[in-house]
Amino acid sequence: MSDPRNDIYNFDIGRFNCAVICDGFTEYATAAILFSRAPRKELGEKLRFYELNPDKIRCFNNCLLIKNNSEITLVDTGFGHLAGNYPGAENAGMLVENLKKNGYKTEKIDKVIFTHYHFDHIGGGLDRKGNPAFPHAVYYMNKKDWQKGASTESYGKKILLDLESRMELFDGGIEISPGIKVIPAPGHTPGHSIVKIESAGGELLYASDLAAHQIHLERPGWSMAHEYDPDLAARTRREIFGYAADKKIPMLAYHLPFPGLGYLHDKNGGWSWRPLGH
Ligand SMILES: [Zn+2]
Repeated sequence: MSDPRNDIYNFDIGRFNCAVICDGFTEYATAAILFSRAPRKELGEKLRFYELNPDKIRCFNNCLLIKNNSEITLVDTGFGHLAGNYPGAENAGMLVENLKKNGYKTEKIDKVIFTHYHFDHIGGGLDRKGNPAFPHAVYYMNKKDWQKGASTESYGKKILLDLESRMELFDGGIEISPGIKVIPAPGHTPGHSIVKIESAGGELLYASDLAAHQIHLERPGWSMAHEYDPDLAARTRREIFGYAADKKIPMLAYHLPFPGLGYLHDKNGGWSWRPLGH
């Protein structure tokens, strides 16, 4: 079996060539943080079912690369050099290495979408020297998340401020190029966004952090402790998961086991997951 820290999964959406590129994984999250609103007994049952250690739950970081004829777009950038600051993130921060290993030069990336301001999504935006990791790219981000991220004391704040001149901020949603739409999905953060990719009949929903674990698909109300607005996050999850299941649109969830791709199916008031790929 290949090492999940340097994995790549190639697939097509219509005429777009896409790849899920793994930034590695973290094992620092605890069950109490990920499922802060879960009733204790039921959470215990779920953790046993999935054979999870509540103090060491593995979360992957699945970044998406989209190539069409004229440009390359990257969605989220992993931990980058911030991985070293977080115990449990020693196996993250691999995105750029994995891009290079697979023949992608960082100078060739035209557009970068940050789905929200959390460090595990924006950390790779700068290189170790503090320069833009994708030197010719325009970086896109929801204005509300920019405001929150650039004013909150964290490692991510410096990254956002250093990238300010490269940043294209938007209100609500934006179509950054034909077939690549950024859609507001608030709650996890004020401007948390998802990305809908469409080409020649093919579709994909990049759901970012709507689910940090498969358990969030089954129990969308079990919001995460660090969510900006847990009630709104739960409502957004239900709305988007319901849409993806009804329309049979495949979804990419950033933190699910690599490559994080799958289909949702209605199940007991929540959704079950049929993974695609590996
Ligand atoms: Zn995340």
